[in-house]
Amino acid sequence: MLRDFIINISIMISFTFVWHQLFKRNQLKLQSGFSLKVIDGLIAGVFSVLLMNFSFTINEITILDLRHVAVAMVALYGGFIPAMIASGVVIAGRYMIDVNYSSHVALFMMLAIGIGTGLIGQYVKWTVWKKWTLLLVYAHSIFFIAFWVVSDSIAEVALAALFHAAMALGGGYFVLYFARYIRKATDTFYEIQENARKDPLTELFNVRTFDHYYNHYMNEYVENGNPVGLIMLDLDYFKHINDTFGHSAGDDILKEVAVRLRELTGNQGIISRNGGEEFTVLLPDIELKELKKLAEKVRRGIDHHTFKLKDGTALHLTVSAGVSHTHAGLKEELFESADSAMYIAKHAGRNQVCALYDLASKAQKESVKEKEASLGG
Ligand code: GH3
Ligand code: MG
Ligand code: MG
Repeated sequence: MLRDFIINISIMISFTFVWHQLFKRNQLKLQSGFSLKVIDGLIAGVFSVLLMNFSFTINEITILDLRHVAVAMVALYGGFIPAMIASGVVIAGRYMIDVNYSSHVALFMMLAIGIGTGLIGQYVKWTVWKKWTLLLVYAHSIFFIAFWVVSDSIAEVALAALFHAAMALGGGYFVLYFARYIRKATDTFYEIQENARKDPLTELFNVRTFDHYYNHYMNEYVENGNPVGLIMLDLDYFKHINDTFGHSAGDDILKEVAVRLRELTGNQGIISRNGGEEFTVLLPDIELKELKKLAEKVRRGIDHHTFKLKDGTALHLTVSAGVSHTHAGLKEELFESADSAMYIAKHAGRNQVCALYDLASKAQKESVKEKEASLGG
């Protein structure tokens, strides 16, 4: 029987791991959507049926296993719906093994386990280990009652029942420890990954993420000709705000600028804070005309917005923007071109959008006009 116990626990651990790997980005929670609850319930059910196939036989008609632990697990994380679905699958699976008095008892047992654990999982608001203990004790008590009903003499199988109880509790705690450990490890991993991608002050992407996407979209452009647009933004006279109202007021303004940027761009593309008071909006698959319109919308939106400091001071802020686009006959790289355009906007008086190719086409038009005039003359 110890051998069966080790096999059961090993199956539970490996199955929990695979299950977690498949759903690590979509972990079952009480707040999860209906479809995820159904899917997880079905998986837990199939898993329980698998556990039944590794059960140990007590007498010619009675089999014991850890099927109820899997049902309790989805009840703990997902509540009533997955618990009911899992127990439904187990009932069907039990009848597939054989149809006899024991499997009829198992039907009622699993129904009671599904309903009870589902209600506990859904409505009991205890700490996780306390709730898990209640779930295990409840599920096992039902299991024990069923066991008692199908056994001719409980005295004969008392030792097995005791062993089964120890196995279900010990195994249950061990499996929950494992499940919580891998969930926590995954959550921490995603949290750290997210922090590495984002600027902690504004929660926009940071320069590293910007570089990543910039290279990615430029490769797409070189390989497939997909257009890429870039808006580079720099706040005007920002140093003055820090000097007058302090660095922390400056930080609050930067945060508010980030919120405005998201709103004004409709959160499209890759919006990053590339350092200090410089921001970029990188947009794949955008038309040149749309890009210029968007840059102007952002400039105007910041210009027309009243920034409020914590002490209630109202502030007016402007931004200079440089725009570049891969389909605009650039002489420099996209990034350098936007950077140059931004500096031209600064030198031209700030609070404006500049696109180098506009200057180039303006110069071209003027030279054509000059040529026409000289030909005409
Ligand atoms: P310009 O119109 O030419 O861009 O003028 P400016 O004052 O915005 O430009 P400058 O580059 O001289 O100054 C940028 C200032 O941005 C300097 C620094 O005090 C401020 N700054 C950079 N990073 C941060 C930050 O994380 N928080 C705050 N509060 N200020 C920052
Ligand atoms: Mg500036
Ligand atoms: Mg700057």
